[in-house]
Amino acid sequence: MQARPLHQRGGAPWVRSTDTIYVRSLDGPVHVKIGTVPDCLFCGIAAGDIPARKILETDRIVAFHDINPQAPVHVLVIPRSHYADVAALAAAGDGLLTEVIEQAHQVATMTGVADGGYRVVFNTGDDGGQTVQHVHAHVLGGRAMTWPPG
Ligand code: 5GP
Ligand code: ZN
Repeated sequence: MQARPLHQRGGAPWVRSTDTIYVRSLDGPVHVKIGTVPDCLFCGIAAGDIPARKILETDRIVAFHDINPQAPVHVLVIPRSHYADVAALAAAGDGLLTEVIEQAHQVATMTGVADGGYRVVFNTGDDGGQTVQHVHAHVLGGRAMTWPPG
């Protein structure tokens, strides 16, 4: 039988055609990269399946306004590919974390807060206040931020 993707063989129906699994060198760390995760809110926004007020899109990054803004400017910057948190994104080591930060600065410039200053936050894990398990940088600006954060 000719080899076909699992999802076309009646098996593994949860695997979409955009899913990608990479396993790098045997002696190094194993990296599993999932392109799109079903039921992930931000994968849905990146794919255009779930509406959002997008302000920037590249081949690897999407930025959109937070639905519950905590500052006059509150934009979320995400990689299109699914990583659970910033540590997983950093471990991928393919420059994507740098791109997220570069686009966060681009968002700050586009929204007029770059000169005055802004904050970039990666809430990580339960104590970090992370509620969506697809890595996202919050770009907050347009008011003076306080410290320490709540
Ligand atoms: P976290 O709590 O994980 O650091 O950040 C998740 C962010 O996603 C929150 O600031 C929340 O307001 C935002 N958010 C949750 N659901 C939606 C949504 O459906 N659309 C948009 N644009 N933002 C969302
Ligand atoms: Zn996702």
